[in-house]
Amino acid sequence: MKHVLVLGGGFAGLESAIYLRRFGYQVTLVSNRDYLYLYPLSIWIPTGMTDFDRLCLPLGQLAAVHGFSLVVDRVVGIEAQRQQVELGATTLSYDYLVVAFGGDKVQHNGQEHFLSICGRPEESLALKQRLDALIAAGRGRIAVGFGGNPLDGTGVRGGPAFELLFNFDTFLRRRRLRDRFSLVFFASMPKPGIRLGEKAIGMVDQMLKHQGIEKRVGQKIRAFQADGIVFEDGSKLDSDLTMFIPAVTGKRLLKDSDLPLTEAGFVKINDHCQVAGFDNVFAVGDVARIEGPDWRAKQGHLAEVMARCAAYNIHAQEQGWEKRKGYEKHLSIMCVLDTGNGAAFVYRDDRRGAIVPMPIVGHWIKKAWGLYYKWSKLKRIPRIPGL
Ligand SMILES: Cc1cc2nc3c(=O)[nH]c(=O)nc-3n(C[C@H](O)[C@H](O)[C@H](O)COP(=O)(O)OP(=O)(O)OC[C@H]3O[C@@H](n4cnc5c(N)ncnc54)[C@H](O)[C@@H]3O)c2cc1C
Repeated sequence: MKHVLVLGGGFAGLESAIYLRRFGYQVTLVSNRDYLYLYPLSIWIPTGMTDFDRLCLPLGQLAAVHGFSLVVDRVVGIEAQRQQVELGATTLSYDYLVVAFGGDKVQHNGQEHFLSICGRPEESLALKQRLDALIAAGRGRIAVGFGGNPLDGTGVRGGPAFELLFNFDTFLRRRRLRDRFSLVFFASMPKPGIRLGEKAIGMVDQMLKHQGIEKRVGQKIRAFQADGIVFEDGSKLDSDLTMFIPAVTGKRLLKDSDLPLTEAGFVKINDHCQVAGFDNVFAVGDVARIEGPDWRAKQGHLAEVMARCAAYNIHAQEQGWEKRKGYEKHLSIMCVLDTGNGAAFVYRDDRRGAIVPMPIVGHWIKKAWGLYYKWSKLKRIPRIPGL
């Protein structure tokens, strides 16, 4: 039985391991954490609407349910020509390799002065502590923003920034404290979120205005400081608590590997998720360069589609089948933008961009998705095809 090594225990890595096991391969999954973290739901941790532990799916349990081996260790190097992967404690070999360990973040001056909901999972808990301290102090100014990547815009993550802002707003209103706190949205691009289309972003603007959330956009960020953000034009945005989401960039450890990378450091793949120049290496999820229309974005659901394509294509190659599966035709943006008391459904494909308000029920749909994800991966409930 051929041995497939899957690197990464996020959406892409887990889905790859599950599908490769279904095809009957011996699978080893390597992750530097012993749990899969449900990033899309982490927006509720700072306001105490969910607990950290609820968002952690133990990989050991998933390994037992699906029959793959788990190694909890850090990948430090890949030598694809020699079919070897170096971990902190050992070196592993493989017949096929699936690289699925996500990306790194664009670096910023003074980055120690902000917390990110998209960074290490523990940062969400630090955000909660800082928010609680600010509430105890009785008043304050909270700045929430996201940044770009001039080399590759597919990993610019604005959705969770808007979600946190609206969740903070709802949280403060429920405690009748909203008038004591100012909320500010900031971004360096003149039209943040434009990939969703003019109509959708116009609606987000209206939502910000309606909730009394200030907006500072269009100025490049020079540096983050303990008490705010300094922009290129010398102006400063004062802040007692800054939450910022740097854009995703390529994984730095890959620079020393022999895998082909784009200028931004993402792994070059074809539509079948096969890495250029290697028959037996695939890359899926945030780690890979995705091709397609200008609005394309790295997302969890796309990471899963890519994982299923890679698993199928490995099997097809082994069986000598001609048919291959591609991810590009599945490109779309889908997101339930939660506000703490409702949500808006955001959708973008080649034909249209839409944002549909879903008061109250939208919030519960997002919660239900979290339960569905956990229980279906643990095989406690059947999977709905395509979800
Ligand atoms: C706050 C937030 C909200 C989001 N909301 C949505 C949403 O609503 N809808 C949507 O579709 N997408 C959403 N996304 C995007 C989505 O979460 C990502 O696209 C998705 O997680 C990418 O999956 P991945 O497996 O490729 O990478 P990751 O999720 O980054 O997983 C990478 C895995 O590799 C492991 N790893 C990293 N480095 C190493 C190493 N050196 N050695 C070993 N293991 C390593 C990590 O521990 C992790 O388990 C959101 C993201 C965030 C952060």
